[in-house]
Amino acid sequence: MVGKSVAPKVEDEKKPASSHEEQSAKNSASETATGSSQSNLLKKAWTIEDSEELYRITGWGEPYFSINAAGHVTVSPLGDRGGSLDLYELVNALRLRNLSLPLLIRFSDILEDRIERLNAAFSKAIARYGYDGDYRGVFPVKCNQQRHLVEALVKFGKPHQFGLEAGSKPELMIALAMLKTPGALLICNGYKDREYIEMAILAQQLGKDAIIVLEQIEEVPLVIEAGRKLGIRPIVGVRAKLSSKGIGRWGTSAGDRAKFGLTIPEILQTVEQLRAANMLDSLQLLHYHIGSQISSIAVIKDAIREASQIYVELAKLGADMKYLDVGGGLGVDYDGSKTNFYASKNYNIQNYANDIVAEVKEACAERNLPVPTLVSESGRAIASHQSVLVFNVLSTSDVPHGTPEPIQEKEHLIIRNLYETYESINEENYQEAFHDATQFKEEAISLFNFGYLSLPERARAERLYWACCEKILGIARQQEYVPDDLEDLEKIMASIYYINLSVFQSAPDSWAIDQLFPIMPIHRLDEEPTKRATLADLTCDSDGKIDQFIDLRDVKHVLELHPLIPKAQGTEPKTQNSSIPQEYEPYYLGMFLNGAYQEIMGNLHNLFGDTNAVHITLTPKGYQIDHVVKGDTMTEVLGYVQYDSEDLVESIRQQTEQAMQEKRITLQESQLLLQNYERSLSRYTYLSS
Ligand SMILES: *Cc1c(COP(=O)(O)O)cnc(C)c1O
Repeated sequence: MVGKSVAPKVEDEKKPASSHEEQSAKNSASETATGSSQSNLLKKAWTIEDSEELYRITGWGEPYFSINAAGHVTVSPLGDRGGSLDLYELVNALRLRNLSLPLLIRFSDILEDRIERLNAAFSKAIARYGYDGDYRGVFPVKCNQQRHLVEALVKFGKPHQFGLEAGSKPELMIALAMLKTPGALLICNGYKDREYIEMAILAQQLGKDAIIVLEQIEEVPLVIEAGRKLGIRPIVGVRAKLSSKGIGRWGTSAGDRAKFGLTIPEILQTVEQLRAANMLDSLQLLHYHIGSQISSIAVIKDAIREASQIYVELAKLGADMKYLDVGGGLGVDYDGSKTNFYASKNYNIQNYANDIVAEVKEACAERNLPVPTLVSESGRAIASHQSVLVFNVLSTSDVPHGTPEPIQEKEHLIIRNLYETYESINEENYQEAFHDATQFKEEAISLFNFGYLSLPERARAERLYWACCEKILGIARQQEYVPDDLEDLEKIMASIYYINLSVFQSAPDSWAIDQLFPIMPIHRLDEEPTKRATLADLTCDSDGKIDQFIDLRDVKHVLELHPLIPKAQGTEPKTQNSSIPQEYEPYYLGMFLNGAYQEIMGNLHNLFGDTNAVHITLTPKGYQIDHVVKGDTMTEVLGYVQYDSEDLVESIRQQTEQAMQEKRITLQESQLLLQNYERSLSRYTYLSS
């Protein structure tokens, strides 16, 4: 895993409650969560409000996600404007329709609501500042190219003439075919060849407002030539490399050495080349993109200030400027902290629209120029909220728990030392005791390595060490202040929850760039989550895990979860020695706000394929399932790596025949093997539950 230095989280001045108060409130909530069974009687019963606070659902989920009285997550896809549905019940209903987990649920109404919100924010800003121009947003297709989503987007965007942005030739193919809204913009970005440029120019003849954004100086003569040859005047824009830099992960998307865009000298060169070709009136748009998930409004303001000046200068040079395209970057508040932390943002959509509208208006007024149509290319802010990934927990693993057996006279000194440490732990010395215990455990391992300690003795030493850790953690959790060197203790003692999911397929950014997504149970929220856990996925890759979770401050390394409930009533819970696999009641977790970028960047690590996906819309009577997109079968993923499933079956068949002849396998066994093999090929790549 790539190391990360987490920037200190700067609190936004607009932040409502004092964070310190919230923090201590949260601490006491987590204390409740860890109470031992004797003290439970003394504590207040766990409420859904406690879960709300613990998982911060109001912070990141409003207005779409909340918790109902039954302790289930509910979805209000229309925001404040309409009904809601119970996510847990929805998942159960979908499972009855033979849709297995993991399951990606897309709420088309949320998509519509996001488009409405963005457009409403710009309309409001335009009215407020008396801006004498329009806003015309586009959706960057790269954010989520799924056909059903793009179709829905174009449909919902129609009233606002919401367009599409293509960042590559294949995306241009999608945009050209799908976007039929009169007046909507088709922004053509990315690397271009002659074919790309000709298609974009010819699209004008279909009545499309296709604008070719020049990102490389080499594209200028190509566009001039194609326009001449076709006898159609292309509409072009220039993508500027701003000197105002973004910050955070995509900070290098801007600046002189950015991958894309033209430097100021190159922009001037473009103007001269167009002028020489008598095509300067083709240049109508200025574009920039300073990166995604811009968490600070100050960065957004700097960029629009610089871009506004470039815009008015281009107009002064004689270009027929009509559009200013501010790119993407509008952030999503993944942790709900409203700060400029990388997983958050210290502004809302309205602040964003206001700053852009006000800045552009002022720059144009100073030069007495008409204001441009404003364009933005928000992807993340439009597509993130609409999908929820629901997956189940398969099993868990815990470090050993319980009171150690009393010490015997003859036991090894190191074991006696550990036992004494265990016995002595109290509120005064728990920090020191942790260091002692750690040191004794390390000594025990050295002694074992030199042959002075037997395997059972080493096991005894390790158990004693865990017992010390458990006792120390119990005390540390009661303290207001936990010394830094004890913070790892939570991680050491955390349970591992095995999840039916591939992080590489369904949340690649969580693996690749430490992106945080809110994760929480979607039921049992009226119940104390008494476990602290990290999540381990199905892949056999040690990076296939999630051990960073949203928190008010920075990140937390364990997630509070509920213990699994054994299935058959009356059976003993799984003990360490039990060899019979335990079956559990389903326990569902949801990963939220992952509708942007994850699907297409997901990969087939260990050959876990696409998950099942469904599209849900709200109806007056409940909801309807608009589309079901079945996840990959094993035959499909094996086909991606050029295996033919018939050949595979044939190979197994021949091997069983051979083994039967040599009497190594019975007919019955060989039939069972073949049956399982063939059946698996047409099945989902994830584990059935
Ligand atoms: C990726 C990208 C976007 C989308 O950015 P978000 O931060 O997701 O809104 C917009 N424009 C361009 C040119 C991009 O490359």
